[in-house]
Amino acid sequence: MRLTIGFFLAGFVYAQAPMKALHPRVEKIVEEVSAERVGASMRRLESFGTRNLFSSLTDAKRGVGAAARWIKEELASYSPRLQVRIDEHDVKKAGRVIRDVKLWNVVAVLPGTTQKDRQVLITGHYDSLHIVRKKVGELERMDQEATVAADAPGVSDDASGTAAVMELARVLSQYEFEKTLVFVAFSGEEYGLVGSGLYARRAAAEKATIDAVLNNDIIGNELAGNGRTAGAAVRVFSEDPIDSPSRTLARYVKEIGERYVPSMRVDLVFRADRFGRGGDHTPFDRAGFPAVRFTTTAEFYANQHSATDTFANASPAYTAKVARLNAAVAAALAWAPPPPDVLTKSKSVITGLETVGPNLSRGKSGYDALLKWKEQGDVTDLAGFAVVWRESVSPYWQKEFWVGPGKEFRLADVSIDDIVLGVKAVDKEGNESPVAVYRIVPRLVP
Ligand SMILES: [Zn+2]
Repeated sequence: MRLTIGFFLAGFVYAQAPMKALHPRVEKIVEEVSAERVGASMRRLESFGTRNLFSSLTDAKRGVGAAARWIKEELASYSPRLQVRIDEHDVKKAGRVIRDVKLWNVVAVLPGTTQKDRQVLITGHYDSLHIVRKKVGELERMDQEATVAADAPGVSDDASGTAAVMELARVLSQYEFEKTLVFVAFSGEEYGLVGSGLYARRAAAEKATIDAVLNNDIIGNELAGNGRTAGAAVRVFSEDPIDSPSRTLARYVKEIGERYVPSMRVDLVFRADRFGRGGDHTPFDRAGFPAVRFTTTAEFYANQHSATDTFANASPAYTAKVARLNAAVAAALAWAPPPPDVLTKSKSVITGLETVGPNLSRGKSGYDALLKWKEQGDVTDLAGFAVVWRESVSPYWQKEFWVGPGKEFRLADVSIDDIVLGVKAVDKEGNESPVAVYRIVPRLVP
């Protein structure tokens, strides 16, 4: 019962931790995700024949341009508060880009209120690819022109992710969030992560504050080519190292996603992506932003980049389940306070240089774990902080201590060298920030 927030005992106030509470608005958002709408978008995206990066931008019915215009119009119809635009780039012929091309990312921004400079991105790619091969001597090569001309339904890869992004834009734009939500349908993924690469590079140059990139790519089917099914699980990939921003976000996705969508299992995979494959989360990770990839556990390899990646071979009900996980994570995160600042500056007495390191020490005794942190931002609904703990070899946080509004915490006779510690900020409704981890900052000078 949340009615008993705090009671008095011998002059002390014990505030009950709001952690693990189910936020009714987040629950409602999860329920509002419609499998019918997700399916209708997947079918509509298939109907453009192809969405190949080099297909027509001007044809009214067929090609990447018609698809982009439809996505833009749909997004704009959801709410007048969504700022929808085509993010256009002139891309020069280079590498896998076979000729100069205009690339259109479709972007919808839902501006935040009290933390509008912090962004949460929900992304997928709407371009598609059907690789057509030709014989060149003894070898089979990709026939570039035939590939551009061919039908490329690309429903699981990645009309599914695009449909999820669109459905989340529809549902979430009926609410007001503290942080800014950005919904992006990237283009040029199939020719080397071109659209996301350009977007991430610009975000880094602008020093944008991106709290999360939730990238959805191949979330359209739950049946693998060998008959294996996995309708109640999804993989979430995150790049190393073990406490990287992306890995920290992945743990958050599992914790919050499974809390609100308990019928789904989030299988974290501790690597950037599948072998030999890439995705639009990677340029963000490389730029230092926390970014993860959702992908079905049961990939159907023969359908990918082929004429059979169709709606008939897809499962919109499954896509909607993955969209619900995204919805819970994005909503909770967009209402959550910023993570605490766990860094502290110090000046070297020898060199005079200022260095930054974790605000963590062994305390007065020399044998304790003494954690200190600072609050970030100006949060009006903060309830307090929670300290988390895990063994250095454990993938997930194992212990949690509610601190309340204090800014330090001491664990007696606990070695800071042997465990990993972090702290998160929690608001009065139970929305949690991602964990700020006390990490060893590599020294430049040995
Ligand atoms: Zn893809």
